[in-house]
Amino acid sequence: MSLISFQKLCKTFDDGTPALEGIDLEVDQGELLAIVGPSGCGKTTLLRILAGLDNPTSGNITISGKNLDSIEPKNRDLSMVFQNYALFPHLSVFENMAFGLQAQKRPKHEIQSAVEQVAKRLDLLELIGRKPAQISGGQRQRVALGRLLVRNPSIRLLDEPLSNLDAHLRSSMRRELALLHQENPCTTLFVTHDQVEAMTLGQRICVMKNGQISQVGTPTEIYDSPDNQFVAQFFGSPPINLFRGEIVDGSHSTPSFRWNDQSISLPPNLSPPLTGKICLGLRPEHLIPIPTGQTKKQQDWSVQLERIENLGDAQIFHLSDHSSCLNLRTNREQNFPPGQITIRPSWEKALWFDHDSGNRL
Ligand code: ATP
Repeated sequence: MSLISFQKLCKTFDDGTPALEGIDLEVDQGELLAIVGPSGCGKTTLLRILAGLDNPTSGNITISGKNLDSIEPKNRDLSMVFQNYALFPHLSVFENMAFGLQAQKRPKHEIQSAVEQVAKRLDLLELIGRKPAQISGGQRQRVALGRLLVRNPSIRLLDEPLSNLDAHLRSSMRRELALLHQENPCTTLFVTHDQVEAMTLGQRICVMKNGQISQVGTPTEIYDSPDNQFVAQFFGSPPINLFRGEIVDGSHSTPSFRWNDQSISLPPNLSPPLTGKICLGLRPEHLIPIPTGQTKKQQDWSVQLERIENLGDAQIFHLSDHSSCLNLRTNREQNFPPGQITIRPSWEKALWFDHDSGNRL
């Protein structure tokens, strides 16, 4: 049975702003669930309602089968790290981190050792005597995270806990959070804007858009089998290439895909889901540059290579094709001069979406 269950949860603020529109979501015991989506899609509101800081307009939440309304916020054994840290300005880093355990009247030596252990892991030992005003934004963010880890609640709610850290610290904190979760698999709902963070930390990812859930799945499911164009575009860097066109069913030959002023034959073994208007999605790594001299196949197409970006371990080809731009990613170093080149899609990886709804076919 799932630990937390959101059922048809809706929230409209007093000024009429709709924030959540019918959220159905199950979170398992010990799961680390990443919640991602663009700004304003309702991620924080979802966590705040679970933490008891806001009320839903309708719908229901249960924890271990018990209605949330029947559990007093102080008895919910969950704690939240807020986007704005919410540290007590008059207390030191140590006192901020110790606050939860002190409120539970735990023995002094236990508090001391718990705070020191967490401060060490988060690299905060040297700052333990300072007040929040005397440390940087990134350090405050780690103190807020530390305060939650010291309390060790059964449910952790993290609202963008790594957003103010530089790239290096962010990656080491990500590793630390993953390790902490491995050692103590505590149910965690983790809000982030960052697709890499969601992919690398989340055991499952919940993708939200406009107060609704677009898809819930493992990182592999979300990347390889997105339910719709929105999810497909949200994950992947550079983003997926999308071509809006139509499939023309050649009764005497193989079907072809037409878009803008272009047309390419589809491989005979590929059965596109439909004929007519459609949107084709090809990830940058599913386009292969064909070295000059190799025979061009019917399913290849010619594009203009504008620039190659070298990332060290990969190359990004910036291409243009009549009126649209597209990206190709290759792990091998390739020497192509700018100009006309031939590319070949890995057709078996192609994703097809409904032209109007954007849902995957
Ligand atoms: P971000 O990633 O920018 O933090 P979010 O996905 O967490 O965004 P929420 O903070 O949950 O989004 O906000 C959802 C919607 O509700 C937004 O349109 C926001 O402007 C609105 N909203 C949030 N709090 C209030 C409030 N107290 N009164 C009115 N509208 C609100």
